[in-house]
Amino acid sequence: MAGKRWFERPDAMAVPSRESAADPATPEFYTRCPSCTELLYDEALREAIKVCGRCGHHFPLEPELRLLSLCDVGTLVEHDGHLVARDLLGFFDSKPYKARLASSQKAIGRSDAFYSASGAVWGVPVEVGCFDFRFMGGSMGAVVGESITRLYERATERKVPAIVVSASGGARMQEGVLSLMQMARTCAALGRLRDEAGMPYVSVLTHPTTGGVAASFAMLGDIILAEPRSLIGFAGPRVIKETIGQALPEGFQTSEYLLDHGMIDAIVERSALRSTIGRLLRQLLGLPALPDEGRTTGTPAPVREAGSA
Ligand SMILES: [Zn+2]
Repeated sequence: MAGKRWFERPDAMAVPSRESAADPATPEFYTRCPSCTELLYDEALREAIKVCGRCGHHFPLEPELRLLSLCDVGTLVEHDGHLVARDLLGFFDSKPYKARLASSQKAIGRSDAFYSASGAVWGVPVEVGCFDFRFMGGSMGAVVGESITRLYERATERKVPAIVVSASGGARMQEGVLSLMQMARTCAALGRLRDEAGMPYVSVLTHPTTGGVAASFAMLGDIILAEPRSLIGFAGPRVIKETIGQALPEGFQTSEYLLDHGMIDAIVERSALRSTIGRLLRQLLGLPALPDEGRTTGTPAPVREAGSA
């Protein structure tokens, strides 16, 4: 690696992936589980909110499906989808930032890596958002930071709880200090949610939650939940191992390790996230329990666009 700057290395933009590798033996409309090698029918996998029915492996989940799986049917109204990142620094690594943005926008059909909405969970109105890891590794630049700040501000204004589902490689290096600033401003907005509205914030950590996102609002939840076997940490295990020159303990930086060490409150299977959050919010807000607790996710309804941002 000598002589090469880190971002020029072939693996610089590589991100931990748990999608099955492109496998010529996998038939069309099927996905092979990278954990147990079971062949899963794509439609059935989607219906199971992308959890392997055989071994419980949690595949990455698209933000639309994520929010539909968390919120009550027909309650979602999207916000801030019109915010677009700008290349203020004229940043160029192995290719220009503008080109990276354009290719992600084209591939995913969204302007940036965060999706936020108003909705309700078990009848509790909430402001909710989640990362799209497919968009430049879910990295947090100014647009993602602005969207999250606005999410907390809407929650403060409406006096409702906030929920953020994280999956991110951290700050977006192509925006330099502008991306690092987002750590401070999201946390400041979150502070106002507590001080001014006295409303809870539930942080859900999914695979992988790292870098500046893990080092800011993701670890500041009043309640922090994580999906099973997710990578959660600041720097990656390889970097830490090389820095301290020691072998790392077994299971280091997984949800299970963090739970054992008191860093998170619970590990919740994806299928139980909605009921867990619904029950928690109703308890925290002093609302009566719902008689049909334990009901499962309803049929997803299309997401409406907010009339104004
Ligand atoms: Zn499996």
